[in-house]
Amino acid sequence: MQPSDPQRELRDIDSINRPWSCHLCGVGSVMPVPGFSYLKRVTSDCRPFRRGGALGVCRSCASVVKRVDAAWEREVEEIYAGYDIFHQADGNEQLIYAGDDGAASFRSDPLVDRIQRLLPLPQKGRLLDVGCGKGAFLSAWSRSRPDWILEGHDVDGQTREVVEAIPGVARMHAGSLDAIEGGFDLVSMVHVLEHIADPVATLRDVRGLVTNEGWLFVEVPHFVERAFDLLVADHCSHLTPDSLGRVLAGAGFETVALSDAWNAKEVSGVFRPAARASDRITVDEAPSFPEAFFAVARALAWLEGTLSLADRMRTRASFGVFGTSIGATWLASSVARPVDFFVDEDPNRQGRRHLGKPVLAPEEVPEDSTVFMCLPHPQAADVSNRLTPPKQVWRALLPPAPL
Ligand SMILES: [Zn+2]
Repeated sequence: MQPSDPQRELRDIDSINRPWSCHLCGVGSVMPVPGFSYLKRVTSDCRPFRRGGALGVCRSCASVVKRVDAAWEREVEEIYAGYDIFHQADGNEQLIYAGDDGAASFRSDPLVDRIQRLLPLPQKGRLLDVGCGKGAFLSAWSRSRPDWILEGHDVDGQTREVVEAIPGVARMHAGSLDAIEGGFDLVSMVHVLEHIADPVATLRDVRGLVTNEGWLFVEVPHFVERAFDLLVADHCSHLTPDSLGRVLAGAGFETVALSDAWNAKEVSGVFRPAARASDRITVDEAPSFPEAFFAVARALAWLEGTLSLADRMRTRASFGVFGTSIGATWLASSVARPVDFFVDEDPNRQGRRHLGKPVLAPEEVPEDSTVFMCLPHPQAADVSNRLTPPKQVWRALLPPAPL
């Protein structure tokens, strides 16, 4: 081990505690929230990632953001170089389990349904999905509105072949949004905005692609309901319904609907072009900086408590983690002793390996095992109740209650 260098440690502490300027409003200084640098991180495609970076809250707009600098850009480049979304399920979109019966559906299907019930959309129209990845949202739209002309966009063309094979997709664009011809009835950005270093500028470009009567749909993760999102190294903005609405207003959109109830643990919003774009994010409703700061501090403390509980319980023989997504990946790569297996309800993920460990179906878990339900607390309790048959042979361990 290297002898400690007090000067260097002081410099590190100083750099962690130094405020930086907010990439959302462009005017505020961001106060770092202590505790973040102690936790390991994870990538948005569910791979473990080292400690580092900084997380804080903007004093002006109260948004929760990472420090976006050259070091962050380099990390993101490194992450995207090996990016493989939904690799745990061989490329199939994540399944969500909703309702009392826990019926499974693809994450995009209920969204498409919701948007179509809310908006007076034409029978035949044009949709552009920005940040389309492997085309999960485009596939869901195409199943529901086969007469629409669909286009996809992503930073590079890696997934072009897969996306252009989806029925209804005319083409997939890569690179700058400027090169795309506008006139779309709907533009969607599903789990995209949180990755973008300059989201307001990107949204202004999107504003030019939507017709004046058109709509924009945005969905981002909600860190208040899903603390694990704060640990995603390539997510630089952690938006709430409040801050998402302000960012969109700053880019020239007005809110039609904004909710954290459409999809559990997500913030979803429908917007339309405003008559006149404002110059910067409006802060009329004076968001509360202390409230946002304590929400982040509570979330980080809950994550630390979750890890410490798992470490204490890991002494038991046959220990597994429920899930193979962000939270489970983070926990399994953070506990002092490696876990023995993962458990997942998604048949596309069962029988495969994640972080070198087998992914079991709930009924395959060995007798007397302990399974840590690495999910937000209410959901962990729901899933655990649902999976507990009369003769349950394994113990479900819940994370700490929210603070
Ligand atoms: Zn700000």
